Amino acid sequence: MPSRMKFAAAVMAGPNEALRVEQVPAPDLEPGAALLDVMYSEVCGTDVHIHHGRLAGVPYPIIPGHVSVGRIRELPAPIEDVNGHPFAVGDVVTFLDVHGTCNRCYECLVTKQTTRCAKRRVYGITYGAREGLLGGWAEALWMKPGVHMMRLPEGLDAETFIGGGCGLVTAVHAVERAGLRLGHSVAVLGAGPVGQSVIALAALGGANPVIAIGAPASRLAFARAMGATHVIDLDTPPEERAAVVHDLTGGRGADIVIEAAGAPEAVSQGLDLARDGGRMVVCGQYTDSGLTTIHPHAQLNRKHIEVHGCWGSDFSHLYRAVQIAARNAHRVPWREMIGATYSLDEANEALRAVEKREVTKAVIRPT
Ligand SMILES: [Zn+2]
Ligand SMILES: [Zn+2]
Repeated sequence: MPSRMKFAAAVMAGPNEALRVEQVPAPDLEPGAALLDVMYSEVCGTDVHIHHGRLAGVPYPIIPGHVSVGRIRELPAPIEDVNGHPFAVGDVVTFLDVHGTCNRCYECLVTKQTTRCAKRRVYGITYGAREGLLGGWAEALWMKPGVHMMRLPEGLDAETFIGGGCGLVTAVHAVERAGLRLGHSVAVLGAGPVGQSVIALAALGGANPVIAIGAPASRLAFARAMGATHVIDLDTPPEERAAVVHDLTGGRGADIVIEAAGAPEAVSQGLDLARDGGRMVVCGQYTDSGLTTIHPHAQLNRKHIEVHGCWGSDFSHLYRAVQIAARNAHRVPWREMIGATYSLDEANEALRAVEKREVTKAVIRPT
């Protein structure tokens, strides 16, 4: 029975424990399911946080890897994509890591924010390794019935998509929350994978100036390649950074500020970069990094500012991220964001490289 084969997977047994490669049995595929040969799976900043036990609800041991690209290996019964086109063995696909959004709860049906559905499960994060091949750091991935897969369109290679990866999908959601318009001035705090894709999307969306604030210098140089018109290094004190942003925006501050930095103080600093009546989106605080101080009178009330959180992504963000990457792969260097590629045996080194910021993006290539 080919479906009872075993496949190698990098298993994270618990917080701060070294990952080990184990053999995990393939599932018996029910109709509606599929099995993928994993081509690439991303090493996201979230994986570093999970490795340090900083995300609630992770059922260790897990197979990490929430954004992945694979080739369909087995397909017991026909499945169609969102456009009604059937998938076939050999198709190169990605999928929404969120699975099992219930369409029955208050969040799903009344407030229509499926990213807050409590029933949702996430590949590589809230599925345990004992439940099967449900994380991308493995030779094979089990697409359970109902997982939303999509083919990579013509012109989009797997490396470009995974180079954008989770950060690009998050950036699509964050820029949507920001209500970006042509000619808006945009300041982006953070030059990691999310910040880089926010910069690219802002530039593609007609923003100007697009100001990147981050470190180190190599990431700021890359931010220029992604579309930043100006960059500010974190060596510049926060008050001076705010002064530069005000100088670049007619003394008013940016129309849109997007925080993708992760440090709590970046939220307070971001409020100081926005113009009166501007809009700020916070998407860099995905894990709990602690508290910060905000001056409600000066930074919120008097400023008449809109502040939006941004939690997770739904299929619309993944779908549009894939289309945007396909149409703009020739001019946005997502592919070059991948600083290093690792085997399953090297998963610990991959995590270390991302944590130490030696690379902007690391990917696992299991085979
Ligand atoms: Zn629900
Ligand atoms: Zn991620």
